[in-house]
Amino acid sequence: MALLPSWVKPEHIKIPTIVIVALIHVAALAAPFTFSWSGLIACFILFWVTGGLGITLCFHRLLTHRSYTTPKPVEYVLTLFGCLALQGGPITWVATHRVHHKESDLEPDPHTPVVENFLWAHILWNFFDDPKLNSYEKLKRFAKDLDKDPVLRFLNKSFFVLYLLVAVGLYAVGHVINGWELGLSLLVWGVALRTVLVWHSTWLVNSATHLWGYRNYRTSDNSRNTWWVALITFGEGWHNNHHADQRSAAHGHKWWEFDMTYITIKAMQWLGLARNVVRPGRLSQIRAKDFRLPEDLKVEEEEPVEV
Ligand SMILES: [Zn+2]
Ligand SMILES: [Zn+2]
Repeated sequence: MALLPSWVKPEHIKIPTIVIVALIHVAALAAPFTFSWSGLIACFILFWVTGGLGITLCFHRLLTHRSYTTPKPVEYVLTLFGCLALQGGPITWVATHRVHHKESDLEPDPHTPVVENFLWAHILWNFFDDPKLNSYEKLKRFAKDLDKDPVLRFLNKSFFVLYLLVAVGLYAVGHVINGWELGLSLLVWGVALRTVLVWHSTWLVNSATHLWGYRNYRTSDNSRNTWWVALITFGEGWHNNHHADQRSAAHGHKWWEFDMTYITIKAMQWLGLARNVVRPGRLSQIRAKDFRLPEDLKVEEEEPVEV
């Protein structure tokens, strides 16, 4: 199996993206030399704010799948958090993810480890301009609902500037409180290391959960439920459940499938901040009955996935 898909040509290489991703990884390597408790706390809090609230709760469950509704100001604040994860703007992210669902584990899927390989699905796909999705005009066909909103269009264009502003702001706060050492610590732990951790945890949903784990449902793709990915991604690792029932706000369908984001949505609902919370659908409940038996799962494991 080749490392790169056959359509990749030298002109598709996204050099600025490769440089930025490499620089942030190198900066994260400075973490042991710039440790401070404040830096560690900033890393934890921003991991949750950008990865848990921004990407999982907002970009994925709210904007892509409309698993619940929330007042517009809340939606915009959560979208801003998602922009700070440096995974592209909301419209680009949502459009790419909708293509993933539409063509899951088939050739047009932007990040399939089944047709391509683990490394492609995990990281390499970010570094090449897919000719099918390499312009805003092409992408917005999959996110017409979001393209109508001028605030989301603005955030989609300015995510990188917003990310840089927060980085500079964190450094400045640290510098003012306790000199350049604390500024640097907040920058390395709260921005570089945190960004790398959120990146790889999100990317594991694209790579690991289409390869490893168990299946509750017979879906047409190779999606899997992977407990350790669910733990580090606030519930996104129950990916086979999600592919079977994409609109459901709950990704954990069995009692042991712990889904932090669904708990967050229920808390928002209790506070009056989330409405129209989509529950697991009838179809998935029927499928759960049909395919829960171990012998059935065995058959499923033996069946090659059609690609
Ligand atoms: Zn999804
Ligand atoms: Zn998937």
